Amino acid sequence: MIVVLKQNPEKERVDRLMRHFTDMGLKINYSEGENTVILGLMGDTTRIDERDVLAYDVVERVQRVTEPFKAVNRKFHPEDTVIEVAGRRIGAGYFNVMAGPCSVESEAQIVEVAESVKKAGASFLRGGAFKPRTSPYSFQGLEDEGLKLLLEAKRQTGLPIVTEIMSEKHLDLFADVDIIQLGARNMQNFMLLKELGRSNKPILLKRGLSATMEEFLMAAEYIFAGGNHNVILCERGIRTFETMIRNNLDVSAIPLVKMFSHLPIIIDPSHAAGRRDMVQPLSRAAIAAGADGLIIEAHNNPRCALCDGAQSLDLPQFDAVMDDIKRRAAFEGREMMP
Ligand code: PEP
Ligand code: MN
Repeated sequence: MIVVLKQNPEKERVDRLMRHFTDMGLKINYSEGENTVILGLMGDTTRIDERDVLAYDVVERVQRVTEPFKAVNRKFHPEDTVIEVAGRRIGAGYFNVMAGPCSVESEAQIVEVAESVKKAGASFLRGGAFKPRTSPYSFQGLEDEGLKLLLEAKRQTGLPIVTEIMSEKHLDLFADVDIIQLGARNMQNFMLLKELGRSNKPILLKRGLSATMEEFLMAAEYIFAGGNHNVILCERGIRTFETMIRNNLDVSAIPLVKMFSHLPIIIDPSHAAGRRDMVQPLSRAAIAAGADGLIIEAHNNPRCALCDGAQSLDLPQFDAVMDDIKRRAAFEGREMMP
């Protein structure tokens, strides 16, 4: 971190600032120009907030030179992380498709979808039991009952399950869930991030609707800081000025994550576009850009879905998209997990 001081600073104030940094265990490279003093801070600067440094009157500007995230930073962990869950590997070329309805609606629905997506080649069943809806009057999910039905579908098909948590109070209910999803709306729910950090469950962390990449990686850093290193990132579209699609898939998140982090990243083309006719082209883009997997909404009867029907593929459409995904993943050298 570089700290530029105001012109002709009072020595006493500079000493106070430097003491502040040395007390934090940092080394300082002091360099004095004709009328500017620059302090180069060396050591672990992740604990410093640039804005706190600006609270010292003597400081003109602060510039970070290393990222504020450390545990998820590729600089300190050059190899790709591979998450192992329920006999599947995620990351480093191992490719997974998670599929299922937006929300669990009934046993017949979730079991039919599970059997069908499994046959098509999905390696996980997705389905929401606790749903974060914009309107309090919309279907809120079957909650505990929905979790039971997901577990029943898992028992009948052998597909591991991924489902969203909305409160740390529910963690016990998620004991048999294979991957806990932390939804876009909760990406910066710091209490929840800390609790998930203390658990040993793999976490599917979705990017917030308008979160920067740095904020996204800092959310993953929270989970790591608590001791849980099983984090899978998920880009699911961000808000832009565009109105013809629900969100805008940020394809550049994939190479950016690969450059700056060792964590796997999967893509959610369903929530990104909000329309089923874009799921296939966005899946292709994700594979070509280096994604480690996809999470796709599929429903046995999308027209009657209680949530996100417009973006859900019906089961034959999912079969066709899966055929395309398998071909393209193989072409790009990914290994599909069964
Ligand atoms: C979902 O996966 O159904 C969901 C609500 O996703 P997001 O948090 O990305 O909106
Ligand atoms: Mn949904």
